[in-house]
Amino acid sequence: MSEHSDPQPFDLVIFGGTGDLAMRKLVPALYNIYKNGGMPGESRLIAVARTDLDVAAFHDLMASDAQPHVHPDLFDADTWATFISRVDFVRIDLMDGASYAALGECLDKQPGNTRLYYLSTGPRLFGPICNHLSANGLIKSDSRVAVEKPLGHDRASANEINDLIAAAFNETQIFRIDHYLGKEPVQNLIALRFGNSLFEPLWRRGRIRDVQITVAEELGIGRRGEFYDRTGALRDMVQNHLLQLLCIIAMEPPISVDGDSIRDEKLKVLRSLKPMTPERVVNNTVRGQYVGGTLGEAELPGYLDENGVPADSQTETFVALKTTIENWRWAGVPFYLRTGKRMQTKVSEIVITFDSLPHSIFSDQIASNSVNRLVIQLQPVESIKLHILSKKPGDALTLKPVMLDLDLSQSYNANYINAYQRLLVDLIAGKQALFMRRDEQDAAWAWIDPIIETWRAHGVAPKPYRVGSWGPAASGGLLGRRGLSWHEETL
Ligand code: NAP
Repeated sequence: MSEHSDPQPFDLVIFGGTGDLAMRKLVPALYNIYKNGGMPGESRLIAVARTDLDVAAFHDLMASDAQPHVHPDLFDADTWATFISRVDFVRIDLMDGASYAALGECLDKQPGNTRLYYLSTGPRLFGPICNHLSANGLIKSDSRVAVEKPLGHDRASANEINDLIAAAFNETQIFRIDHYLGKEPVQNLIALRFGNSLFEPLWRRGRIRDVQITVAEELGIGRRGEFYDRTGALRDMVQNHLLQLLCIIAMEPPISVDGDSIRDEKLKVLRSLKPMTPERVVNNTVRGQYVGGTLGEAELPGYLDENGVPADSQTETFVALKTTIENWRWAGVPFYLRTGKRMQTKVSEIVITFDSLPHSIFSDQIASNSVNRLVIQLQPVESIKLHILSKKPGDALTLKPVMLDLDLSQSYNANYINAYQRLLVDLIAGKQALFMRRDEQDAAWAWIDPIIETWRAHGVAPKPYRVGSWGPAASGGLLGRRGLSWHEETL
């Protein structure tokens, strides 16, 4: 399938069109795309769910549940009115193959439109949906399917689901979503690394001391207790988001920006991760589970007191781990990853710390040890900042740390654009670079599975950490062995 530069008229079919993801993210993102002229010809949104609604009632639901998630600066009542005239609703039980005829009738009204199927339902429906679409003849050679996480809970189950999808769609038609790859600073990091000659000589062992990736959430598990308890932080966050970020940092320059070139390089990184033997799992991973405590003004319960969580649950709500990449560029450079719920603050950032000076002529002043850092923040604000030492204006030769802003997103109003919008634009254009290929996902699970297995076999219980903290103290210990600490100064 070719990668189109001009979008062709399309039908975006959202299975699970009444759900939380559709209302909070997908519909607002498509509205923005429509406003920017990105729904050419008679392109449509077709929402699919079981709830008994007619089209007018679905439009009302969009007004109450999706419209508030459109950025107020981008909302315009006239544009919204013409946007919803492009929105249809089809009521189907997705498990019932016969009911897909109604979807077929709706699609046949615009037979020339490219069919984009977005699976925004629980993963147990992915197989049946693909099967019924295929059996009802609703997949054409230019159709595409986007699949949300989670795709499996280990390597074997991910393979099962991928086999079911592959029975209906070719790999070039499958777009596996990791919305972290749609975030502006992540895409900007690709531009920064491969659009400039400046960083390349520094982007390696001997120049970079360590890399830290933190995805910390203040949120707990909300109403997802049962789901979360089966999943845990390692599967929910590390297997996909954190490893994908690691790949973007560590990959070699791709030969082009096309889908397979970037994904080939990311795959090599995943295959170069030092395998997690039981000994390394025990020494280099930390599991945690939050216990009651204070976050801001609020007194919050611990994980075991959350709805849907068994009183003796051993599921981790926090993971920290250290890994290395066994190749010429990165051998010996530690990569530290951590993620957790009910942490002190909401922040997602990548911190690349450069090596310290061989000798400082300013040794009587501010610690000049490893002050050069590239900090790529994804949340709560999107930014890329380079930390350097500079002379304090006016005084004699006195140094002070300053941060250079390398990200012009503010000037371009790019913060109005969410990750889902960027990914939908690429789905519409048929560009796969920012979606996970099956072999990448398989390589990630192949690395994660031994961690899960060792935790189970060795009875590694999660360590308690207080709500509103930075996780168990042992997480700091992972870095402390090298005299390092987590970067928390801007947090
Ligand atoms: P949700 O709020 O529970 O929505 C599920 C949707 O699926 C509803 O529209 C529901 O509609 C529909 N559905 C369920 N069974 C159906 C059936 N048999 N036939 C037809 N429609 C059916 O879930 P969500 O939060 O939107 O999440 C959807 C998927 O995205 C999940 O896999 C989730 O893990 C993933 N995800 C969600 C988020 C997020 O922020 N929400 C983020 C990342 C990934 P009816 O009840 O009307 O049938």
